[in-house]
Amino acid sequence: MDSFKKLEIWFLTGSQHLYGQETLNKVADNAQHIVHLLKNNLPIQLVFKPVLKSSEEIYQLILDANYNTDCIGIITWMHTFSPSKMWINGLKILQKPLCHLHTQFNRDIPWNDIDMDFMNLNQSAHGDREFGYILSRMKIPRKVIVGHWQNERVSSQINDWTRAILGWHDLQNAKFVRFGDNMRQVAVTEGDKVEAQITFGFQVNTHGIGDLVSEIDQVKASEIDDLCEVYNQEYHLTSSLSINGTHYNSLREAAKIELGLTNFLTKGQYKGFTTTFEDLHGLTQLPGISVQRLMQKGFGFGAEGDWKTAALLRAMKTMSIGLAGGNSFMEDYTYHFEPNNEMVLGAHMLEICPSIAHEKPSCEIHPLGIGGKSDPVRLVFNVEGGKALNASLIDLGHRFRLLVNEVEAVTPLHTLPKLPVARVLWKPQPDMETACAAWLLAGGAHHTVYSQNISTETLQDFAEVAGIELALIHKEMGNLSHFKNELRQNEASFK
Ligand code: MN
Repeated sequence: MDSFKKLEIWFLTGSQHLYGQETLNKVADNAQHIVHLLKNNLPIQLVFKPVLKSSEEIYQLILDANYNTDCIGIITWMHTFSPSKMWINGLKILQKPLCHLHTQFNRDIPWNDIDMDFMNLNQSAHGDREFGYILSRMKIPRKVIVGHWQNERVSSQINDWTRAILGWHDLQNAKFVRFGDNMRQVAVTEGDKVEAQITFGFQVNTHGIGDLVSEIDQVKASEIDDLCEVYNQEYHLTSSLSINGTHYNSLREAAKIELGLTNFLTKGQYKGFTTTFEDLHGLTQLPGISVQRLMQKGFGFGAEGDWKTAALLRAMKTMSIGLAGGNSFMEDYTYHFEPNNEMVLGAHMLEICPSIAHEKPSCEIHPLGIGGKSDPVRLVFNVEGGKALNASLIDLGHRFRLLVNEVEAVTPLHTLPKLPVARVLWKPQPDMETACAAWLLAGGAHHTVYSQNISTETLQDFAEVAGIELALIHKEMGNLSHFKNELRQNEASFK
């Protein structure tokens, strides 16, 4: 994922010729100071562009930004007054996400020394209002960040937005592959793949499982041996999976599936995939450890044909580059309804990403009641407590909704010795009853992306860029009637 480091955000400073060269030099100098500070905090490059003083310059720069494949978004700041009729033609063609930074170079008014020179330079209080007007009038979606540029909250908000547009950028022209179709009869994992491509930029296509099987069949025995040794190094292997154990052959089969799947995804340049236990012809076991390890490497994944969650997981993994913690495919599995200690146990049949594990996973083999195949190998682990969120992307038929619930993960107090899958415990915010009711009212899926490191603000910024609704279930959401009204208003607004 190192290739992301070369990507750029362009910093555009608006002004005009009125002020004369001396002031314009100062404007450029100040803007470069700001860029110099802010770029330290970002996972990609922040690039200063020459101060913009005319319609022609603005149009040309935005044309370049659209055309430049490394430029993934622009930040704009009106240090001085930049009449916004100059911006109309440029903004008309803007195709990259925009963040409007409303800051001022001087933090404090110099009470004793302030004169008209100071006033002429520090004009963003009205210059940015002129710019905000034209953006609103032209209905241009954007992020607005307000505050002094040395304030940590400001750089943290820019970081959040950068991560959102990084996820967005990664989805443009991304390819996802589904092995087999959707799980039979299931509704929420379905969706309009054509509309998804128009909305988000990624495409989803299906391959029969036989295409994957023939890739798996080409894997060499020596590669399988090597990967089994990697498993042995990285995980606590259960004794039956060790080299002399009774199930060693199952471990080899799992490794063979991982190698074949990796080759298939690499050759096809896929950024994620789905499987379904209802279509496993030619596979000896449902892919478990292979899926878990591929997620950890950055691939998106959704079980039972769930391509929307696969794409969202991939985007969120991209957004989280360089951050501690992980992101995983997840399912709300079972409830704990103990009064005043309600929580959810999240898990899946097999496929939870080890990026969220807080301990060295154990590699185990257990029977699986469904799928009708041999016992699958999987990684089993617990997940630590702390702040997290669940995100679900659903298709409402005529549009998409991104639903987010902030949760407090709970460090497990029990060992769960008979549960043969990775698991997470969490308390939904604001409380179990309100959160679950809101989730059901919003039509959220049972499949989600569980994230330890993506902020709600980043997902809000992502939804803004995608032009979709984001419904948020969180600590300060108030009662359910507010949430219901919000859904009603969004329904009208996003029609
Ligand atoms: Mn599922």
